[in-house]
Amino acid sequence: MSFDKVSILGVDFVNTTLDGMVQRLTTHINNEEKAFVVTANPEIALHAYQDKGYKDILDRATYITADGIGVVKAAGMLGQELPERVTGFDMFMKLLAMANEHGRSIYLLGAKDEVLQKAKAEVASKFPNVKIVGSHHGYFQLDDESIANEIRELQPDFVFVALGFPRQEQWIDKYFPTFTKGVFMGIGGSFDVLAGTVNRAPEIWQKLNVEWLYRLLQQPSRWKRMLALPHFVVKVMQQKVKGQR
Ligand code: UDP
Repeated sequence: MSFDKVSILGVDFVNTTLDGMVQRLTTHINNEEKAFVVTANPEIALHAYQDKGYKDILDRATYITADGIGVVKAAGMLGQELPERVTGFDMFMKLLAMANEHGRSIYLLGAKDEVLQKAKAEVASKFPNVKIVGSHHGYFQLDDESIANEIRELQPDFVFVALGFPRQEQWIDKYFPTFTKGVFMGIGGSFDVLAGTVNRAPEIWQKLNVEWLYRLLQQPSRWKRMLALPHFVVKVMQQKVKGQR
C-alpha cells in the first residue's frame, strides 16, 4: 500500500492519520522492514527549503509526518488537505502502547542524561512489557560510530532519536543504511515531555491549536525559533501563488 503525499515547500508529507501511521509502522515491525521517520514541523520544512543537504536527508526518509497544526493548515491553504497532526510525541506514545502489547524492544537515544533516565523510568512504569534494550544521552559527536554499532548488535524494534533537529535526522540518515531492521524516528524534545521537565500543553490548548503558544510561554527562549512560523506561512503562500506542488 502506498500513501499519497502532500508537498509543502518541496517536503513530501505522508497523507494519513495518527492511527494510520502507527498501523503502517506496526506493519514495518511485523515484516522486519526498517523505516526512517521524520516528524516535520514548519521549522523543519523551512530549514529543508533553505538547506540542500538537509533537504536531501528528508528525501531519503521513508515517511515525513505533519508535526504540528502549521503543516496541516499549510496543506489546506494549498488545497491538499491533510487529515490531522501526526506529531512525534503522539506517535511515540502510541508506538510504546503497541510495543507494550506485543513485548517489542526499544532503544532511547538523546536528551541530557538525567532527562533520559527519568524518561526510561516513565517508560518502564507505564509500559512494563516494553523491553528497553539500551539507551544513550544525546551529547556526542555525530561521527562517533559506537552508538550505531551498539544498536546494530542489539537489533531493537524501535529507535527513538531525541537529539532535536537537524541532528536527529543527520544521525539517522548517516547510519540508517548500516541497519538491517528497526523503525528509526526523530522525536525532538519528547523525552523532556515524558520526563516531566517540559510540560505538554493541556488538551484544551491543543484543541484550540495554540500548543505552540503554550510552548513559547514555557520556554520563552524559543521565541527566535518561532519566527520560522510566519516565514513558513509566507513561503507557503508563494508556493500557492506559483501553483507549485
Ligand atoms: N539534544 C540532544 N543533543 C544535542 C542537542 C539537543 O540530545 O546535541 C536534545 C535536548 O536535550 C532536547 C532535544 O534534543 O531533549 C531537543 O528538543 P527540542 O524541543 O529543541 O526539539 P526540536 O524542536 O529541535 O525538534
